[in-house]
Amino acid sequence: MNQEIERVKVLIIGSGPAGYTAAIYASRAGLSPVLYTGGQPGGQLTITNDVENYPGYPDGIMGPEMMEDFKKQAERFGTDVRYGMVTKVDFSSRPHVVTVDDQVTIHSETTIISTGASAKWLGIESETRLNGKGVSACAVCDGFFFRGQEVAIVGAGDTACEEASYLANICSKVYMIVRREEMRASQIMQNRVMNNPKIEILWNSETDEILGEEEVRGVRIFNNKTGEKKEIAISGFFVAIGHQPNTEIFRDFVHMDPSGYIKTIPGSSKTNVDGVFACGDAQDNVYRQAVTAAGTGCMAALDAERFLAAHENH
Ligand code: NDP
Repeated sequence: MNQEIERVKVLIIGSGPAGYTAAIYASRAGLSPVLYTGGQPGGQLTITNDVENYPGYPDGIMGPEMMEDFKKQAERFGTDVRYGMVTKVDFSSRPHVVTVDDQVTIHSETTIISTGASAKWLGIESETRLNGKGVSACAVCDGFFFRGQEVAIVGAGDTACEEASYLANICSKVYMIVRREEMRASQIMQNRVMNNPKIEILWNSETDEILGEEEVRGVRIFNNKTGEKKEIAISGFFVAIGHQPNTEIFRDFVHMDPSGYIKTIPGSSKTNVDGVFACGDAQDNVYRQAVTAAGTGCMAALDAERFLAAHENH
């Protein structure tokens, strides 16, 4: 059957704070946006518990509930939220050709990329089982829940150093689990953690298992030089071994940095492709907060609206 190809003014790819905020603005501007949720509707916040740093929620809110609120607000103004995964794009001309679930083809006049990033994980069973029960990939989000307690963090890059320092301000002690005998982080960040009396660095160490049934109670590590194992009592386990932006499908068209973060023109959400805008963690490896993602989502919708207005008669 020869189906007619759907044409939309604004297509939003991704359903985290960036995508839904773009949807709220675009729908209120009368642009009838279509939003595809991707494989993890609601994005990274759906795998956190309490969110206490998003302004407007004085008592905090559960991550999944907050994303449900974002969705409802976007739908209230007419956003067409659809479950589906964008599997292919062709941005070589306008309208953009976007394929969903390898089946449906959509032509979009503008496209907003808000596909986010995913934290990298160690990949051990106890990490998955205790995720949200003391295991976290975001010290800024969850460190506060461990104030006055002992925690561990894995990683040795700038993020791990920054997060270890952040945690040391809140927690009584921070163990930093480093797999080699040196760190990847910049010297200044390394100095900061090495000079912090609350941070103990465990060199040549890898995680064997995170201990605890209902919540984290400790971690068993092993020294990859000596084979020696030891258990440390902790109540929070942070993973800071990098993030992966979910941008692979755009690689042939959109300029990115070597890690895959989309490059935007500073002070805007514009990419190198006409009518393609990027917001949220897909283009931000520095702040990575829900509120900054929402802010850039707003920018993307406004940029798309202005782009459409300028191209209306062309
Ligand atoms: P990086 O890729 O720089 O570092 C990842 C770290 O995790 C490395 O030390 C790596 O170890 C370690 N690691 C990776 N996999 C494992 C594993 N399976 N087990 C144990 N350890 C593992 O990521 P970051 O998120 O730290 O930084 C990303 C980028 O952002 C960098 O360019 C960084 O400079 C930048 N950044 C800058 C900041 C600033 O300037 N203020 C703050 C935060 C980030 P190994 O070294 O052995 O490979």
